[in-house]
Amino acid sequence: MFIDDLRADLDEIDRLGLTRRRRALGSPCGPRVQRDGREYLSFCSNDYLGLAADPALRAAIADGAQQWGAGAGASHLVSGHYAAHDVLESALAAFCGCERAISFSTGYMANLAAVATLAGRGDAIFADRLNHASLVDGALLSRARLCRYPHTDLSQLARLLETTPARRRVIVSDTVFSMDGDLAPLPGLLDLAERHDALLILDDAHGLGVLGPEGRGSLAHFDLCSPRVVLIGTLGKAAGLAGAFIAGDGRVIEWLVQRARSYIFTTAAPPALAHALLTSLLLIRGADEARARLRQLIDRLRGGLSARRWRLADSATPIQPLIVGGNREALALSAALDEAGVWVPAIRPPTVPEGTARLRISLSAAHSYADVDRLLELLRGLEAAP
Ligand SMILES: *Cc1c(COP(=O)(O)O)cnc(C)c1O
Repeated sequence: MFIDDLRADLDEIDRLGLTRRRRALGSPCGPRVQRDGREYLSFCSNDYLGLAADPALRAAIADGAQQWGAGAGASHLVSGHYAAHDVLESALAAFCGCERAISFSTGYMANLAAVATLAGRGDAIFADRLNHASLVDGALLSRARLCRYPHTDLSQLARLLETTPARRRVIVSDTVFSMDGDLAPLPGLLDLAERHDALLILDDAHGLGVLGPEGRGSLAHFDLCSPRVVLIGTLGKAAGLAGAFIAGDGRVIEWLVQRARSYIFTTAAPPALAHALLTSLLLIRGADEARARLRQLIDRLRGGLSARRWRLADSATPIQPLIVGGNREALALSAALDEAGVWVPAIRPPTVPEGTARLRISLSAAHSYADVDRLLELLRGLEAAP
């Protein structure tokens, strides 16, 4: 029977050490959270600037709800598009140095829209092997041919671009890879896009707010600007709230308004959120001190681990993966930290390649040196244990 098959599949997942459990938090997002009746020091969130619980942002949501009500009531192309969305989209476009932007409810939906609407049957998508799942799903939805190149390997990408028979070419990459923390070679990618007349779709989920002057993101970090670039930013990470956007050339954005199914066939995000996101943008722009502190925390963590048994991946961003290898070993390490009141998630396949299970340590400007030292002390102890 169908349901019995599912039970067997679940048992198999469990046997492989891949069962995942949700943990209900009893307090707001921050370095310290309540869980299971206990306080934990958390290195789990993508709240890189500590904005998720910021008093100004909380007040902005409340203010937005007072002004615009609770829900949008309809999709953007019917009656769910509010002046607050327009103002936000203009601010996002200006922030990223692009002509126009379109806002989405989530990054997952923005990525589906960008990839599946800008590539189609007869086209070819060239995607980094470690791209976020939402970009892969967008490629599958598009019906274009999907060619995956080895992680950040520009010469393999060049070879694929040279030999493709496709009518149109789209290169797709994360800017900061979500499970590895490393940066895509953006100047090289843009150069190849120009040489092969390709569109370059970049997912800046982990760069926006963190990298570049005023936190303007990965493109600003590399001082790049091109109408070929279609930029996705998400607003639930450094921006501390929720939502996402696609920014780029005005014609590209208009095409998305007309055709993107994950934009058209869904209720618009509450205008109150759009209103509050303007405050997020202001806070991000003014957060140079927080970004400097974040860099110091990254240096402190990296300087304090000896890489004897477990290796920190080569990352200069707040995503600091400790590569452990086996699923059970990664889970055991995470459990040992948990026991000590420190919460670091174990990331296992299929989120990461087989044999590279890891602890994904994620730092926030809201952490203190003492927080990082506590984690280091525990990891050193566990590394020395048999
Ligand atoms: C989190 C994430 C997304 C999805 O964004 P949501 O707003 O959480 O849906 C997309 N791409 C990358 C690289 C991410 O890390």
